[in-house]
Amino acid sequence: MPRPIKATIHVNALRHNLGRIRVCAPHSRVWAVVKANAYGHGLARVFDALRGADGFAALDLDEAKRLREMGWRGPILLLEGAFELRDLEWCSRLDLWHTVHCDEQIDWLATHKTQVAHRVFLKLNSGMNRLGFAPDAFRSAWTRLNALTQVDEISLMTHFSDADGARGIAQQVACFDTVTADLAGARTLCNSAAILRHANAPLGARDGPHTEAPGDTQRGHVAADWVRAGIALYGSAPDFPECTAAQWGLLPTMTLSSKLLAIQSLRAGDTVGYGSTFVAPEAMGVGVVACGYADGYPRHASGSFGEGAPVLVNGVRTRVIGRVSMDMLTVDLRPVCEATGVMPMAGAEVVLWGRSATGAVLPVDEVAQASGTIAYELLCALAPRVPVTVVDEPAVAGDGQAA
Ligand SMILES: *Cc1c(COP(=O)(O)O)cnc(C)c1O
Repeated sequence: MPRPIKATIHVNALRHNLGRIRVCAPHSRVWAVVKANAYGHGLARVFDALRGADGFAALDLDEAKRLREMGWRGPILLLEGAFELRDLEWCSRLDLWHTVHCDEQIDWLATHKTQVAHRVFLKLNSGMNRLGFAPDAFRSAWTRLNALTQVDEISLMTHFSDADGARGIAQQVACFDTVTADLAGARTLCNSAAILRHANAPLGARDGPHTEAPGDTQRGHVAADWVRAGIALYGSAPDFPECTAAQWGLLPTMTLSSKLLAIQSLRAGDTVGYGSTFVAPEAMGVGVVACGYADGYPRHASGSFGEGAPVLVNGVRTRVIGRVSMDMLTVDLRPVCEATGVMPMAGAEVVLWGRSATGAVLPVDEVAQASGTIAYELLCALAPRVPVTVVDEPAVAGDGQAA
């Protein structure tokens, strides 16, 4: 028998979450962000469910090539643009739109020989201080690009540092407004957190001719012409714990599940696992789960950040106890015995995150929080050794409810 761990991708949930993004930004086009192998889900596995998006935003040429090979003929945006001159050849060949965030990328464009002029997204550094032109350099970059025959259309882009938090987006929006006010071109500002929390925030007056779809009533809002949806598509709340995925109406798109390999009956004072970090306060059952850090499950879920991370056993919520090891972890079976009246047996279903066969949901955000990280990292870290299955089932009643 194969080892019982598996990941399940819920493509119905991907479609549902894309629908939630549409509701939040009804007048914007949606980039489905599929970097990091679609946040660990597998580009090929999510492609069909997300082809209702208006475009795909990718990190590198490999992802862009795979999208074209799968038959996507719509827009593809390279979020960080070209990494070297040669990448522009591929942009021409595959008709890729690309971000321009530095002078060197403009130099490359100026020397690039192409039959087809490129559509570029000029990036403003409005305060994140990662990529993009500083406000006082933006205009000359725009002017340079505008003079190139290699460039067809210039769109305007920035990225928020605090769309999920108390600091918010107002300062960066004001910066974007000031710098771009009289420039033509489509705009894109929002990541998932901004889409969910700030899509209707005002985006200042723009005078220049507007190149995007006529009838765009969103032009005065931060959602603008294009939104860039990543983590929300994958069922996680970017602003957890302030808001939960269920509150945002998002469904889990990945379940990591396994089974109990063994049950241990401890006496008071017995310990569990490496370092004997858990000491049984009373006689109790401990379940040994076929899942460890080599599967992508975080070792810090052991309780490095307070209690151990939540886990579902037969749909009942309990916690990781003791250290997570490479191939196994251990869970407290007391809550399961209490809830069901019986000790679970070897082979019982264990959900590390996602949806149980019972319908109970364990949000990946809660596991991430208990492990001192964010859901992005857990989803992206799913290990290649975990077999993945894709299911397409209609949403069931009670969907999105936390267990
Ligand atoms: C990853 C990324 C996004 C998507 O961010 P989420 O928080 O996952 O929605 C949007 N824009 C850029 C530039 C990105 O790199």
